[in-house]
Order: sequence, then structure tokens, then C-alpha cells
Amino acid sequence: MTVSETRREIAFADNTIGRPEIDAVTDVLTSGWLSADRRTRVFEEEFAAATGAQDAVFVSSGTAALHLAVLALGLRPGDEVIMPSLTFVAGAACCALHGVVPVLADIHGARDLTVDPADIERLITERTRAIVVMHYGGYPASVAQVRALADRHGLHLVEDAAHSPVVSTPDGALGTVGDIGCFSFFATKNLTTGEGGMILARDAELLARVRSLRSHCIDGSSRSRTASGSAGYDVSGVGLNYRPTEMAAALGSIQLGRLAGDRSRRSDLVSLYHGGLAGISGLDVPFAGHQGASAHHLLPVLLPEGSDRERIRRRLRAAGVPTSVHYPPTHLMTYYRDDPDGLRADAIPRERLVRTESVARRLLSLPLHARLGDDDVAYVVDRLADVLAGE
Ligand SMILES: *Cc1c(COP(=O)(O)O)cnc(C)c1O
Repeated sequence: MTVSETRREIAFADNTIGRPEIDAVTDVLTSGWLSADRRTRVFEEEFAAATGAQDAVFVSSGTAALHLAVLALGLRPGDEVIMPSLTFVAGAACCALHGVVPVLADIHGARDLTVDPADIERLITERTRAIVVMHYGGYPASVAQVRALADRHGLHLVEDAAHSPVVSTPDGALGTVGDIGCFSFFATKNLTTGEGGMILARDAELLARVRSLRSHCIDGSSRSRTASGSAGYDVSGVGLNYRPTEMAAALGSIQLGRLAGDRSRRSDLVSLYHGGLAGISGLDVPFAGHQGASAHHLLPVLLPEGSDRERIRRRLRAAGVPTSVHYPPTHLMTYYRDDPDGLRADAIPRERLVRTESVARRLLSLPLHARLGDDDVAYVVDRLADVLAGE
């Protein structure tokens, strides 16, 4: 035993909110205007600059960002969008809501949990309009390959970059390779605004459409309308209210400034984890050999084949180590499996996703956040080794 057995309570996820965030939000609260305005614009410009994009649109959640992508790309009932099954269900839901068919693709395998471009290619039909890739855990998907595929077939490419804000790769920053990049600032993400999301788009006109859809396709801002007492307005399309708050924008600006430091801490913790976990037999560690940039959002492991995951999770919990599962595959969820709304045309067979299903039974996410100590990682690794030895 390399670490004392003194019981700890480890947090699964945590943020890095501190005094500067508290002061900034307090400033907003006393400023007289709380809905999207000047600070929102500043955060958009800062995020765009940090990512190397021309501009960005801040919205109320990552789900709102994905929904606006579906609307801005003009996807219609019966259109098909190919996306990984092993991701959060938000992308599939935003499609299904509009009768757009989420066609679910397999992953590379146990070492790389991102979507396999070859499987995407296999699923392309004459109804396919778009492809979504997701940078699982902050590790870049094969986005350049998928970009080439999308270009060859005349398809839109959306990056669900919820796990990967401001990650530079040789192919470009994540979220800028696709036509649209969607980010989330939910409480557990790398950078949090409580709830929030950001959208990047390569084409300025497409981003302008996103900006308009964010606020009911009404010309002009609600603040200037309120200030001028103007009663009349016109709408140019069917939009929604996905505006963020100024409190969220104030949080975002400061959190963005912390991102590099937080990431370097996460990266060190992941190295420690990978070193420790390598000593546990029967355990596989996805992305353990990853070279290059990552946002290090998640620390997934694959339990030994045939493990009773829920029992292992209960034992870890009892030892003060909370865990999670990213993700129960979308194609096995009741709604997407049973298809009560008849989204899937008869022509689309009910696919088995062999690699996704084989890792999904074994997946376990361990605690990872910038406030973990080195000794916390050692504690988690030791408890996992204990629990597995007792199975
Ligand atoms: C968090 C997340 C979302 C949704 O973002 P919210 O801000 O929670 O709406 C979408 N996709 C992935 C992969 C996510 O992790």
C-alpha cells in the first residue's frame, strides 16, 4: 500500500470557482441589467480569440448550442445525421425533436472511444445531411478524416466539443474544423458558467443565423428595445430564447483565464493515474497511449471482462470514491431502441454496434478535476486495486 488507508471523500468533479468569479458576478448583480448584453459580447470575443475563430455565440447551454446547429443548418424531418452512439444523448435528442434521424455509429475500439470514420462512411445514404463527431473526454476525434469524408459527400460537419474548449491540434482547434462547433459550460465541464454553451461556425453567415435564432430571430437586442421603449419589432424566422445571462458571461471570462492552468493540472493528474492504473491487471485504460493535446475532461477505464460494475461502484462509493459511466450508449436507450415515433425509416437496419457494446459494459469514469491532489489519485488507484482484488 503506497498511500495510507485513512478514509477520504473524493469529489467526482469540481470547479475552480474562486474570489474573482464571486466578485465579477456580484458586479453584474448590482449593474442593473442581468440578461445577455455587454459582458456576453466580451466573453464571446475572448472565447473566439482563444480558439482562433473569427467570432462566437454564447448560449444558455450546450444542448441549446446543438439545437441551434440543427436549426441553423436547416435540417428537416427525414434527414439523417450520423453521430456516435457513445456520447451524451443531447445531440440525438435535438435531431429527434425535429424528426431528423440520428444514425448511430460505432467507436474505434477500447483504446480510442471516439467515433470511427469507417463506420460513419458505411452509414452514409442519400438521406444523410450531416455528421456529428464528439471529442470524448477531451481527446480529439478523427476530425480531419471525417472532414474529408463530409466534403467528399457534400455533408455538414458538426463538432460536439462539449468536453474540449480551447484544444489546439495540427488539424486546427477543436470546434473549428467542422462547419459548427458546440461547447458546454455545464457544472462538471472544464470551464463552467453553471449552465452555458458556445457556438463557433466557419461561415460568418451561418454564425449570424445562429445569433439570430438565439433570440427569436428578432432584429436588434432586447436591451436596446427596452432602453428606447420601442414597441415594434419584426421577426425574420422561427427562433427561441437561448440567451445566456450576464452572470454566466462574467463567470466565463474568468474561467477562460484559468483554463490553461487547470488543464496543466489535469494533465499531470492523468499521467499519475495512467502510471498507477498500469499496475492493475485486467484493467484497460482508453487513451493511455494518447500523444498530443487533450482537454483531459474524463478519466475512463475499462473494468475486467465480466465484472459486476454496479457492485464495484458501490464498494468504491463506500470507500469515498464516486464514479460514473460515460456513457450508456444511445442506441441501447429505450427511446432510440424502440423508436416509438418511427424516426428510423424501414431502410435503416437496427444495427449492432459491436465495439461500443463491448466497451460500454466495462466503462467506468474515475474522479478527475483540477482540485484533486496527487495523493487523492493514489488513493483512488489503491481503492480500485483493493476492490478488484476482492471481486
Ligand atoms: C454536457 C454535454 C452536452 C450538453 O451540454 P449541456 O450544457 O449540459 O446542455 C452535450 N454533449 C456532450 C458530449 C456533453 O458532455
